Amino acid sequence: MKFEGISLGLKEFEKEIKVEWKGKLEYEWDCGIALSKFMEGLKHGKILARKCYACGRIMIPPRMFCERCFRPTDEWIELGDEGEILTFSVSFVNWDASRRKKPEIPAVIRLLGTSENMGILHKLGEVGDTLEEVLKNVKIGMKVKAVWKKEKEREGAITDILYFKPIKRRK
Ligand SMILES: [Zn+2]
Repeated sequence: MKFEGISLGLKEFEKEIKVEWKGKLEYEWDCGIALSKFMEGLKHGKILARKCYACGRIMIPPRMFCERCFRPTDEWIELGDEGEILTFSVSFVNWDASRRKKPEIPAVIRLLGTSENMGILHKLGEVGDTLEEVLKNVKIGMKVKAVWKKEKEREGAITDILYFKPIKRRK
């Protein structure tokens, strides 16, 4: 017995194999106690962290459980909206792999008052529109400040902070 195969090309895929389906891809996600309060704080222009009395760490994003001490955290702390850059990247690619003319600059920012190596992922702004400008203007350890959305536009999301911008020192 002989089984002869046929080669498939784009035409066969379009005609025989392609399935069109429009899914209703809605989902809900429960933030939990710590992140819910953190998001609510953002809506009011506040950045909230949790402190663990056992190790003394002030943690952001906040969590109700200290993974080092293996015990519940103890207290809410309101932080300022200034921090320093722990690390950053310069991206010319969007989430869908399309190219960007001006870069997006994701950065990990340690807010002042938090413990060492405690940072939130956000993005930088007002630091240039080309790779050369960004690399000239952004340095690890540089002090930055949050730029917030207008109060009535905030919705309790991390995007209530538009970006972090450099704090200009007076000369
Ligand atoms: Zn702890």
